[in-house]
Amino acid sequence: MRIPRRMVLSAAVISALTAVAALAAPVDTVESHLAAAKAAAGFDFSGTLARVCIAPQTGPGRDVAPGPAPDRSTYITDPAKVFDNLYFVGTKFHSSWALTTSDGIILIDTLYEYASDEAIVGGLKKLGLDPANVKYVIISHAHGDHVGGAKLMQDRFKSRIVMGAPDWESIEKSVNQYPNGKPKRDIVGADGQKVTLGDTSVTLVTTPGHTPGTLSMIFQVKDRGRPLTVAYSGGTAFNFVNDVPHFDIYINSQRKMAAAAASAGATVLISNHSEFDNAVTKIRLMVARKPGEPHPFEVGREAVARYFKVTDECAQVARLKLL
Ligand SMILES: [Zn+2]
Repeated sequence: MRIPRRMVLSAAVISALTAVAALAAPVDTVESHLAAAKAAAGFDFSGTLARVCIAPQTGPGRDVAPGPAPDRSTYITDPAKVFDNLYFVGTKFHSSWALTTSDGIILIDTLYEYASDEAIVGGLKKLGLDPANVKYVIISHAHGDHVGGAKLMQDRFKSRIVMGAPDWESIEKSVNQYPNGKPKRDIVGADGQKVTLGDTSVTLVTTPGHTPGTLSMIFQVKDRGRPLTVAYSGGTAFNFVNDVPHFDIYINSQRKMAAAAASAGATVLISNHSEFDNAVTKIRLMVARKPGEPHPFEVGREAVARYFKVTDECAQVARLKLL
């Protein structure tokens, strides 16, 4: 069959225009967001990529009592001085960070209840720090692996506990998750609020998504006297109600924190699970650090931005799968 020349031309024009339009339009497919997430993760954030882009997602945890403590050898690791004024007192999986100031200690997160006495109280003592000097405890969010030791710090050391309002409410509503008692409601952390102790401030950035009250943070540390800015990401995995509105909230928070990190000039990315920031591995690397070599946690502004690109893109992957 002969096709009129005019028709062939117009078909070619249409196909060319379509190709141009495809180039100009943002590509919005599961594959394109997965590719963007993989590119952003590189070798730095493979654990985050695996958890939020690759592993099957889960829904929110149920209101049940915590399971029995695992054998201590499976989670205990050495505490460590990581920066001049920031100490790791976490486990192999979960991080608790002690930020020392001119007037005491700000502790970030408190692990599972079973780990908190040995890893935090014992860890601080091993490092020559007095747990009684912990004046503030900032809880990234009210899941058992971060809030477990809050009651201990409140009861034993009279530390003030800072947490997002919705997460205080979730603790108060819980029937079964706190068989040994709940931390009493204390300071409600608000967006932009500064938790100040002596010469040091931690700026809170509310990043709802992982939980409704998730708190991320910006603060300064010193590496051999050199000030560096830390972006602390307070909630990562998708174990919340998996629907479009929840993913929209999560995605907005990743972008909000990326912007906060960029405007603060953050070059260090810290999280609350070693799975996400390789904290325990990096602490091991510090032993081999020679004078003049970069600090393993100082990844640079570009990599900090890529971290939040991974969580943003992976959330878009999960969101698109719902449509
Ligand atoms: Zn959590």
